Amino acid sequence: MSMKSSMDIDVLVIGAGPSGAVAAAYLQQQGFDVKVVEKSQFPRFVIGESLLPRCMDHFEEVGFLDCLNKQGFEIKRGARFVRNGKAFEIDFADNFTDGYHWTWQVPRAHFDKTLTDELQRRGVAIQFDCEVVDVKIDAEGRSVSSLKHHGKLSELRAKFIIDSSGFGRVLPRLLDLDAPSKIPEHASLFTHVKDSNRPEGKEGTQISFDVLSVDTWLWVIPFSDGTTSIGVVGPNAKLTQSELSLIDQLRQWLDASSHFKDRFKDQEFLFEPKMISTISKSVKKLYGKGFALTGNSAEFLDPVFSSGVTFATESGLLAAKLCAKHLQRIAVDWETDYSQYIKQGVNVFSTYVKEWYTGNLQTIFFDSEPNPVIKRQICSVLAGYVWDTSNPFVSNHERIIKTLAKVVHLGR
Ligand code: FAD
Repeated sequence: MSMKSSMDIDVLVIGAGPSGAVAAAYLQQQGFDVKVVEKSQFPRFVIGESLLPRCMDHFEEVGFLDCLNKQGFEIKRGARFVRNGKAFEIDFADNFTDGYHWTWQVPRAHFDKTLTDELQRRGVAIQFDCEVVDVKIDAEGRSVSSLKHHGKLSELRAKFIIDSSGFGRVLPRLLDLDAPSKIPEHASLFTHVKDSNRPEGKEGTQISFDVLSVDTWLWVIPFSDGTTSIGVVGPNAKLTQSELSLIDQLRQWLDASSHFKDRFKDQEFLFEPKMISTISKSVKKLYGKGFALTGNSAEFLDPVFSSGVTFATESGLLAAKLCAKHLQRIAVDWETDYSQYIKQGVNVFSTYVKEWYTGNLQTIFFDSEPNPVIKRQICSVLAGYVWDTSNPFVSNHERIIKTLAKVVHLGR
């Protein structure tokens, strides 16, 4: 490691969500002086509660599995998509790619706090309730960040910044890196409920996505504490222009679900439903001199396949590894080793998200009985293993869904 002045740190991580937590854990393991600056006080609510098996690899690599295992989170072994009484179910045990066969469905306030508690236990400096309000980066990539804590400003110099600020999108805003997303503009309305009508057994605890119409769907994510996350996703125009209150609007969407309306009828909402519009985000570039963008600060597609946290941890861990090399003065090809790698996975998921909303994936799920090999390959993508190019549903993602949907249509 190179010499540092007493004021310098090696790495500033902005944001203590899963992306920042994984990045900070790796850098601390490697002996770097890392500081996490987080705007909120934890525990704090954030949406994004259904994980994918792929992120378990990341948590394992940075030693987070022990603390997470102790929390008793609901185990997620697959997911179910339902439409008009038909169900398409994936079981991660059928993954085509070698990897984890399960993960968790988690209230994120509890989950993210578990990660930051573990970081602090290991001695990582985290400053909560502290907002990064400005960043200046010089030609060498050295930065000075302005931090605001209880109304007071201070400066922090760092050799590298990992921006994991989620929808705060600190560097994309300050460095003018925002770019339009290629995903249709969607909004979401969601809350948690007590779920006192929860059925016994798998029906009660399984994650389900109920297709209300081709562009609008409902999620049901049961937690181990007996509460359940429910939310609807659909075009901005459908969700944001209603004259109903958010409570009445969400009740109306729940009523539209033939599968779930009885279960959630009159169930108490644990907080006033929240609305997020124009969910998808993109950037012009994922890195620059002295910084890398990870997680939602870099890219967010759509909640339909629960890929957000997995991309957050994949990119957080990879950015941390490359940053470590950079600080050890080992040449790093950020374009190939970071940007292209991350974009490859984003592109695969992006196809699945787009093909969900064109209806082609829904055709494959509900109008056919995919053969077991195809189902295993699709399952692997939906488990987050989107870098396994031996899977034709990864390597040939742009054509294979369209082709298969056509075959299903012809066979009808
Ligand atoms: P976050 O978890 O958002 O953390 C970013 C942190 O940065 C926050 O704690 C914030 O306070 C902090 N911060 C922001 N600005 C600043 C600042 N200026 N200074 C300091 N700190 C700052 N993903 C899934 O995997 N599964 C799902 O089921 C799922 N469902 C979703 C449903 C909806 C409606 C939406 C919108 C998203 C969903 N996601 C889902 C995506 C998921 O929420 C995110 O991908 C995930 O939380 C990203 O993690 P992160 O670490 O990048 O950011």
